[in-house]
Amino acid sequence: MLYRLYRESLSLLTDLYQLTMAYGHWKTGSHTKEAVYHLSFRKNPFNGGYAVACGLSTMVDFINNFRFDESDREYLSTLKGHDDEPLFEEKFLQYLSNLRLDIDIQAVPDGTIVFAHEPLVRVSGPIIQCQILETALLTIFNFQTLIATKASRIRESAGDKSILEFGLRRAQGIDGGLTASLAAYVGGCDATSNVLAGKLFGIPVSGTHAHSWIMSFEDELEAFMAYAQAMPNNCVFLVDTYDTIDGVAHAIEVAKWLKKNGHQFLGIRLDSGDLAYLSIEARRMLDQAGFEDAAIVASNDLDEHIINSLNAQNAKVSVWGVGTKLVTSYDQPALGGVYKLSAVKDGGRSWNYKVKLSEQAIKISNPGIQQVRRFRDEDGYIADMIFNIEDNLHGESVIVDPLDMTRRKRISAGCKFNDLLVPVFANGRQVYNVPGLSQTKAFVAAQLEIFHPTYKRILNPHQYPVGLEIGLHEMKTDLILKERENLQGRKDLHSKQGRSHSLERKKEPSGFIKQDVTIKAGPSTKKQNPAALPSSLEKSALVIVDAQKGFGSSGELPVARAEEIVPILNELMDIFPLVVATQDWHPADHVSFAINHADKKIGDTLRVGNYDQPLFPMHCIENTKGSQFLDNLNVEKIHRIFKKGMDPDVDCFSGFLDCEGAKATELESYLKDNGVEHIFVAGLATNYCVKQTALDGVKLGFDVTLIEDACRGIDRVGFRIKTAIQDMKNGGVAFAASKDLNYSTVNRGAKKKASK
Ligand code: ZN
Repeated sequence: MLYRLYRESLSLLTDLYQLTMAYGHWKTGSHTKEAVYHLSFRKNPFNGGYAVACGLSTMVDFINNFRFDESDREYLSTLKGHDDEPLFEEKFLQYLSNLRLDIDIQAVPDGTIVFAHEPLVRVSGPIIQCQILETALLTIFNFQTLIATKASRIRESAGDKSILEFGLRRAQGIDGGLTASLAAYVGGCDATSNVLAGKLFGIPVSGTHAHSWIMSFEDELEAFMAYAQAMPNNCVFLVDTYDTIDGVAHAIEVAKWLKKNGHQFLGIRLDSGDLAYLSIEARRMLDQAGFEDAAIVASNDLDEHIINSLNAQNAKVSVWGVGTKLVTSYDQPALGGVYKLSAVKDGGRSWNYKVKLSEQAIKISNPGIQQVRRFRDEDGYIADMIFNIEDNLHGESVIVDPLDMTRRKRISAGCKFNDLLVPVFANGRQVYNVPGLSQTKAFVAAQLEIFHPTYKRILNPHQYPVGLEIGLHEMKTDLILKERENLQGRKDLHSKQGRSHSLERKKEPSGFIKQDVTIKAGPSTKKQNPAALPSSLEKSALVIVDAQKGFGSSGELPVARAEEIVPILNELMDIFPLVVATQDWHPADHVSFAINHADKKIGDTLRVGNYDQPLFPMHCIENTKGSQFLDNLNVEKIHRIFKKGMDPDVDCFSGFLDCEGAKATELESYLKDNGVEHIFVAGLATNYCVKQTALDGVKLGFDVTLIEDACRGIDRVGFRIKTAIQDMKNGGVAFAASKDLNYSTVNRGAKKKASK
């Protein structure tokens, strides 16, 4: 179809930067690296509850005809860089000329009901090919999906009445007009005035006459009569050229003539005035004259809202004519679709998952190789789950709201579902039969039937539950944290090289010295993991992290089964010559409490200084129950307690350094003054404060062993414990179980060893 229209290669229908990036990949040899991209949008259009995906049929056409032809090559060879030399070298242009797509594409069929965050298209294959397609796919899907959705909303308000689309004259140019007619038909219109769209796409075409027809005759009656004689079987008279009620009367007169001559009078059209009043009046007149079957077509800047309002006023309209507001998507001119990289293979066999960071949670992309699973029960669709196809899913499904990780939905194991993305191209070859448009249109209607009406409401619809499968959610959270750590690492490096002073803080300058240590022992110069267990604990200390009620299993920031570590810690304390503990100790106005930030909620993150602060419920507030140690912990055996997190403006996970990397406590000097070389870390929570304390311990030069069974992690924020353990292993932390620590008892109580 595209080729019939344009008779040209459309491979240059792209942004220049796609080609400069492609050149970069080719030049550096990274162009064959395998990658996965997804096309999705972040917000349902029109403040509505859903969208109707559309674009696949055009995409199939586009991909099938994708070639850089001779004229493309010639044009690209004329482009110059700032040095006035050719922008692309000849060999690269030759490469493009020879390029044949061998990508895989999965997509949702046209007409699929979709929601924000769900992938509509997944493209995988050599990164250069995936990249080159970005702009065109967005051009295709953004507009068609927008218009199909608008049409579907109009369909929802029109009920079982017909809808004619006649927006061509107001459409956004030639392709805008054609594409709008296509998508409007898919979304719910029954016919178009656009004849070329009729020819190209097989959409029914419709139309009678305009005001100018009437005006070209002496009077209205004569004009109707002339038209009836010319086209006796296609008579819908436009009655509002002069006086609408008179016009209806004239139409009825000609209708009687048609009837007498064996033709069916189809109806009238109202294009101005009070459509509610006029349609009721016209209906009454037509019925009285015996034309109960004659249609009343209404038009005049209609959209779903006006149609709803006219319906509420009992307007007697049998056919709605919509134009400008539909084809231009008047109230929302663009769908914010995006195309994001979510995985690459760097040489190896396994995928490296990717997220794009952003200050706004909604703009953080989803990683993985995604599929959407739509669950339903006997009452209809209940939820959609975006999952990574590489994950083994079994049993109950847990779906996490991507914008509010505290909102979750559980779907039982036996629940019926279907997966939305289907194979469209495999190795560059089409493997999908594109259904006809009327089939696609019927598909839209059939799905909408299965969604509860509250999701389809024009105004203030309910939010249909869509979320990430919990494994994918955790992977994403993980990647975000890692990315941010990397970001921090890069910033630290800059700071060390004296290029940035942005890390300077009001705190004591010693923080910067510690940061230098961080850099020396940083990720690139990974320290060898120490032997987990030294021959004696003489130079060792037990560091108990945040074993507090606030993190108890029913605490403010609950850690499941937290109390189970108490007897283990009590036994461990007996064998260490030195035992220290950290205590999360916050002022009520602490930065980490979501409640202290007007527009934020638990689970959001907030940029604070140079790090991203996860926002928690209030917890461990100084001198409250939550800040106390867990019941039955032998507190008298702790030689020294280090409070942390007292600064309201910066959080502190680690017992050593705060989240900005500055020195937070005297723990390091205390341990070193006591000759400690090896620390054993235990406590709460494995994936936050325990992890950070252990990693900082390594950075500060200690041998660090984590006593795994004496720790518990937080599940609530979705940060996988096993990933935290991997991070610690990568960061130089050794692991042991409490039962392996067969050392003799030395700690008879804190008083003996208390130093300072
Ligand atoms: Zn805290």
